[in-house]
Amino acid sequence: MSPVREQISTCVCCGAATITYTRALKDGEQGLLAACGDCGHLTIISPGPLDYGGEEYEASYHGSRAPAKIFADAIPLARKRAAGMKSHLQGARTLDIGCAAGSFLSAAMEAGAACAEGMEMNDELRAFVARSHTAYKKFDQIPTSARFDIITLFRVLEHIDDPLPFLRSVSELLAPGGLVVIDVPSSEMLALRHSTGDRRWFYHRAHRQYFTRRSIDQLMARAGIRGEVFTSQDTGLVYCMDRMLDDGRYYRYVRLPLVAPLFIMAKLGGERVFSRWAASRGAGDALIFRGTQCK
Ligand SMILES: [Zn+2]
Repeated sequence: MSPVREQISTCVCCGAATITYTRALKDGEQGLLAACGDCGHLTIISPGPLDYGGEEYEASYHGSRAPAKIFADAIPLARKRAAGMKSHLQGARTLDIGCAAGSFLSAAMEAGAACAEGMEMNDELRAFVARSHTAYKKFDQIPTSARFDIITLFRVLEHIDDPLPFLRSVSELLAPGGLVVIDVPSSEMLALRHSTGDRRWFYHRAHRQYFTRRSIDQLMARAGIRGEVFTSQDTGLVYCMDRMLDDGRYYRYVRLPLVAPLFIMAKLGGERVFSRWAASRGAGDALIFRGTQCK
């Protein structure tokens, strides 16, 4: 049993004192979560965090894949992300925090960045990245004079136990007018609103924070960064509906006849329509923030 973290009195994102406690976590593991009545943010109180880069953590994240495989697997999404900020990347000094095997660093250079540096806690991945880019383990290794035009955090912030001081360190590294791009799982995503199957998958120990559009916006403002928040649907129609239909008991018996027509619909163009529809309703599975320092 993990030690119970001291209960919080205010929301880690917006600072409101309207905290209630709720129990839910993946795979039947009981967890205590603090819920903010103001911005809707959820934070895990117990169990405590996993050791980042430790064996249990890596097993749940990267499995036994080699760095070269992790790099290759993440290239399509990295290129999609780089394409979405191509005009900003031209000639930009870029820092990707939580860069894993460096897929986004490579995609940023392809898209015209002047340089792309990474920060990664995992020693094996960082050694792989260091073959082609400058790679840091922690903030205090980054030269104090270094400033970046673009700082990206893809699927990082949900792992941080205390995100506000972390983001203040990010803010200090921004060049004047520099851009911060953050991508986290959305706890307002369509599948979560309607599915018990998805909830079982979504709430787990390595994710310390569960953001809403309002909570990420409030958190960033407190870190001195203002911008816009939107959602994007990154997983496909079949995957998403499969999760929504899963009742955890009888679904496996009817799965094939239910999912097969969805697969055909997706192939016939339903995929794009679904992605646009989910994102336009603020119900996409990825929550994206883009912003710059407040003047
Ligand atoms: Zn809040």
